[in-house]
Amino acid sequence: MTNTFEELKSYIEQQGRGYDLKMITEAYRVAEQAHGEQKRASGEPYIVHPLNVAQIVVSLGMDSESVEAALLHDVVEDTELSLEDIRRRFGRPVSVMVDGVTKLRKIPFSSREEQQAENVRKMLLAMAKDVRVIIIKLADRLHNLRTLDYKKEQSRRDKALETMEVYAPIANRLGITQIKEELEDLALKFLDPVGYAEIERMLDFNREAREAFLQKVVEKLQARLAAGHPHIQIYGRVKSLYGIYRKVYMQGRSFEEIYDIYAVRTVVDTVEECYNILGIIHDIFTPLPGRFKDYISTPKQNLYQSLHTTVIDKEGIPFEVQIRTWDMHYTAEYGIAAHWKYKEGIQGHDKLEERLSWIRQLLENQKDSEEAREIVSSIKTDLAPEEVFVFTPKGDVISLPSGSTVIDFAYAIHSAVGNRMTGAKVDGRIVSLDTPVQTGNIVEILTTNAPGHGPSRDWLSIVRTTQARNKIRQWFKKERKEENTAQGKAEIEKEFRRNYITLPEEQMQEFLAHIAQRQRCRSVEELYAAIGYGGISISRIMPRIKEEYNRTYRAGEEQRLEALMSLKPKKERKVTSGVIVEELDGCLVKYARCCNPLPGDEIIGFITRGYGVSIHKTDCVNVRNAMSDPNQAERWVKARWASVVKERFKTTIDIYADDRESLLADISIALANMHIQIHALNAKELKDHHTGIQITFETADLEQLNLVLSGLRQIAGVLSVQRAVQ
Ligand code: MN
Repeated sequence: MTNTFEELKSYIEQQGRGYDLKMITEAYRVAEQAHGEQKRASGEPYIVHPLNVAQIVVSLGMDSESVEAALLHDVVEDTELSLEDIRRRFGRPVSVMVDGVTKLRKIPFSSREEQQAENVRKMLLAMAKDVRVIIIKLADRLHNLRTLDYKKEQSRRDKALETMEVYAPIANRLGITQIKEELEDLALKFLDPVGYAEIERMLDFNREAREAFLQKVVEKLQARLAAGHPHIQIYGRVKSLYGIYRKVYMQGRSFEEIYDIYAVRTVVDTVEECYNILGIIHDIFTPLPGRFKDYISTPKQNLYQSLHTTVIDKEGIPFEVQIRTWDMHYTAEYGIAAHWKYKEGIQGHDKLEERLSWIRQLLENQKDSEEAREIVSSIKTDLAPEEVFVFTPKGDVISLPSGSTVIDFAYAIHSAVGNRMTGAKVDGRIVSLDTPVQTGNIVEILTTNAPGHGPSRDWLSIVRTTQARNKIRQWFKKERKEENTAQGKAEIEKEFRRNYITLPEEQMQEFLAHIAQRQRCRSVEELYAAIGYGGISISRIMPRIKEEYNRTYRAGEEQRLEALMSLKPKKERKVTSGVIVEELDGCLVKYARCCNPLPGDEIIGFITRGYGVSIHKTDCVNVRNAMSDPNQAERWVKARWASVVKERFKTTIDIYADDRESLLADISIALANMHIQIHALNAKELKDHHTGIQITFETADLEQLNLVLSGLRQIAGVLSVQRAVQ
């Protein structure tokens, strides 16, 4: 914080660069006089605001003219001084900058959104002439957000939202990471205070352990790398709060699944050293397959360059390593401002043309548009950090979220193209339909006019965009009514069986009709159809159906279930030699509780964050759901059982039987005869004199379990015996 000009002056002097202090002092005097007695919402003298904006501008390494403009940025809007006055005293560049950040006078008869859009357009136009305009505007917005507490609730939300939608994406596109991250974090705090606090809490939890871990890694790398790379700097960095928020709330990751919350950053002199060090790091730690990204050979759009890799240490904790040169580091931190700060001294600025062509592009695209407001929405989409731009064979650009496939591309052109799609060519080569598109690809969609042709249901798990998913669902909804109904009916029956939902036919119809109504379907048929085409997800509504069922038909059931759960002994976390995980030898392994795999089951590993590899059955429901998420694809690793497994495993089975006298006794005796030790047993009464029994016991492997299952099936009255699901 800078509250007086003296403080700003000494901050400028600390920079040790050739600032024109005479002109800067003059700008301060003019601004101070013009703002006079004006006060900010906090009660401070108004001049404190331009002083702080100027300080941020200096911290970004900007030149004297920018500092002058920063001090004067509010005088034309808020005081008697005119642009002409500024131009006469400080020259044209300064007045152009001040003009660029000055809002338009109120446009009559327009909405707040239109006002906002017109101002953004004006600013972009000024920015296309002189990019320093936006740097001053970003500094202005940053200081306003830092002091937003004093504003009224509505004004806070407006400012925070505009920051998130317009200014943070622009800062990102210009590569000014420091400003972008602070803007996002501050705006988030106002937009979702609860989510913000939640992430803060997660970060606090285990902070010391994580930091100690990171410190150990840094020291280990230092010891190994220092000799060969005398100027190397290695340090830990924490992902920005909003960056974590995006992954947790928008991409649905759990905190444990975010590998780069903590990362180790390595900065060296040359590009050769970067690749060299990458090799050494992959030698010390085990790299996770598919996580290496070379942004040195393919820089991001905002010219960000670095090597990223995720590795896993002996304890099974994955973490990200970023490797870059100093030059790349400055660009990563200061983006376009690095031109002033590190490259051309504080008085020069040119050669920015190519970096700023997107601004002209953005303005060009808007030229024919009636609605100024569109400029705001295209900033939101076009400048979103993870966007790819793909071309049609005719040269039209289609922008898609990164990770989108050729199917997303087809549906982005037109739903008719998607629905008639049979294949795709990327840069002239035929590719599979799940191929992700990259910026610069030319994509051609192959289509057919054959009657009855349409999308495949598998596409629903391949596509990335909601647009494509909705259009595919629409197609199934319209074209495949009967098939959907049958499919939905089968799905719901299966889920009911799995959850012990059994009712006499008449009551069942009543129950289903009730569910249908709840889901806003006009009939049970319609409910089936909706489940069939994917409009309603059965796994999503199942918990509520179960609850409803228990409440209506099974009062008192829950308490008993809870009692059963508390009987289940907790599994301990331990290193096991029973499983061999490909490529990650000797890492920490735990067995997933959702499917309790046994030796003999086909298994697969999932790399968790901080808890080693979790082993699931390949046919576990969670595996099937999670596998369809392309973001997690790289975290699945092949796993198999060791030839000798010494451990014993707890397993749970469900028995469905006629409710007869001494059934439980017969089952217990049968188990005792097979030398099976029971850990928990729970029986519940079901309708129609049936009973459901759940038993947990220890077993060596699948073979032994199967013997037990067939033994129990011999018992009179037992209708079915199977391994429990979840
Ligand atoms: Mn201002």
